[in-house]
Amino acid sequence: MTVELPPGQQRLQIEFAPMEMDPAEETTTHGGLNGLRNRVLGIMATIPELADHDIRGLEDVPLGRLRRDATRLHGVCRYHKGRRTAAGGLGPGDVREVALHPQVLEEEWKEYASFLLYHEFLHALGHVHHDRNFRKLEASWPNTEAHKLQETFARHIRAVNWRWSWTCPECGWCCSRSVRAAGRYRCRTCRVPLVDVPAVTA
Ligand SMILES: [Zn+2]
Ligand SMILES: [Zn+2]
Repeated sequence: MTVELPPGQQRLQIEFAPMEMDPAEETTTHGGLNGLRNRVLGIMATIPELADHDIRGLEDVPLGRLRRDATRLHGVCRYHKGRRTAAGGLGPGDVREVALHPQVLEEEWKEYASFLLYHEFLHALGHVHHDRNFRKLEASWPNTEAHKLQETFARHIRAVNWRWSWTCPECGWCCSRSVRAAGRYRCRTCRVPLVDVPAVTA
């Protein structure tokens, strides 16, 4: 296997064995999720269309995170087994978990995350399907621009989850990394610098 060196890549650098390291990328905590819940419940309390809904019940709904590589799914409301098919009357007590994409919990996505959690909370309140009533309630969210962030966020996670495959141009050995090798590492076997080949996860 032959791989072209990208322009400007140096051939001779200090010798390092490839290291098994993957920087801890999880920076947000469950405090972040509960903070978000408080914010969303505070706003929901001001929405007249929700006056007859069990908003208090949402305080106890377990919150979680989706896998980081769930690039197409930004949020989900999971009901307990069998409850979803039960005839009508679903509520917060039937919810096993509401989970959001971990990257939406970063501060810069707060507005979109709030809207997303609101959307999942509407499901948790028993609006299982995206029917007209659901869409009407969804449109009562005060930040009417928030839903437009869906596409922007989708592009963002595709871009930041971009990865590099550190590849040996001699033997083809490779490993996936979020940063470039930039010529700093050599193949253990062939002793030649590893090159960066673009790779996308998910
Ligand atoms: Zn939905
Ligand atoms: Zn090699």
